[in-house]
Amino acid sequence: MENVVILGTGMAGLTAAVYTARASLSPLVLGGPEDGGQLGLTTDVENFPGFPEGVQGPELIAMAKKQAERFGARIKQAAAVRFERKGNNFALTLDDDSTIDARAVIVATGASARWLGIESEKKYRGRGVTTCATCDGALFRGKEVVVVGGGDSAMEESIFLTKFCTKVTIIHRRDAFRASRILRDRALKNPRIKVRWNSVIEEVLGDGKKVTGVRLKDTKSGKAADFKTDGVFLAIGHIPNTKIFEGILKLDGNGYLKIDSRMRTNMPGVFGAGDVHDTVYRQAVTAAGAGCAAAIEAEKYLESLEA
Ligand code: NAP
Repeated sequence: MENVVILGTGMAGLTAAVYTARASLSPLVLGGPEDGGQLGLTTDVENFPGFPEGVQGPELIAMAKKQAERFGARIKQAAAVRFERKGNNFALTLDDDSTIDARAVIVATGASARWLGIESEKKYRGRGVTTCATCDGALFRGKEVVVVGGGDSAMEESIFLTKFCTKVTIIHRRDAFRASRILRDRALKNPRIKVRWNSVIEEVLGDGKKVTGVRLKDTKSGKAADFKTDGVFLAIGHIPNTKIFEGILKLDGNGYLKIDSRMRTNMPGVFGAGDVHDTVYRQAVTAAGAGCAAAIEAEKYLESLEA
């Protein structure tokens, strides 16, 4: 029987691992299909305090793993495919068919950015195609980029990118944004932002090393044309990794885990941290803070079982 199982090796999960390990709980941390979470997909992280010169996302993850292991955390590369309550405890089935029983669980499974699903975006992922303006925007200083999407994220990211980029073109598949009026207006008023309505990216173009453009298809006429750009920012939504909790833990309408101000889910002994519940900040540092809080709450919960 494990004291605490932490699902996720992103910043939330690994911070929870450092804290629960230092509390002598010997946590078991399970890394899912996206080891390292969103940081595992990022290059330069320039906004994580303590790294004045910045740090590579995967390097930050590797250091956090090492730090957690130093205090006795065990990290296993296996995804949980089934979650059940078993009396006062919890049973997890892993993708290698093994099962684990735990007294407490911290869900830090994150949210995965939605991708277009075309082959060429995979080829240029991290080489001009990105899903995080906050993380990668500064790398495009003085360049021209496109942002795909018509929601609040696309507006916010486009506005943010004008701090660095000379031109930001929003590519939207329809002729109207779903974004809130305030963000929509702010984006449309910005002289550095242009919009290509009724357009979808058919292909990301590049020279083999970096993005050089996109092939756009007009959804009305069906005509395709190449469009020069240095970067492609996808802002077409996120998908929280909560599938195994459906019908068991309380989720919001978009599938995000519902937790209270003390990181507790609706099930005593199960806590949530990071992008799996955060629809607002989604930063490495806020995920770390949430992981810390969830660990402290899990520790208190386990103590209460012994009282
Ligand atoms: P969203 O509201 O779901 O918008 C996603 C956008 O991407 C939509 O415009 C959608 O087009 C487009 N899209 C989806 N799949 C696509 C595909 N395969 N190809 C091309 N376009 C595609 O997602 P979000 O903007 O990330 O926002 C998520 C939630 O967070 C929302 O509730 C939002 O209000 C909130 N949020 C709030 C703020 C804020 O208030 N400051 C900031 C960011 C996010 P269609 O419109 O045609 O469906």
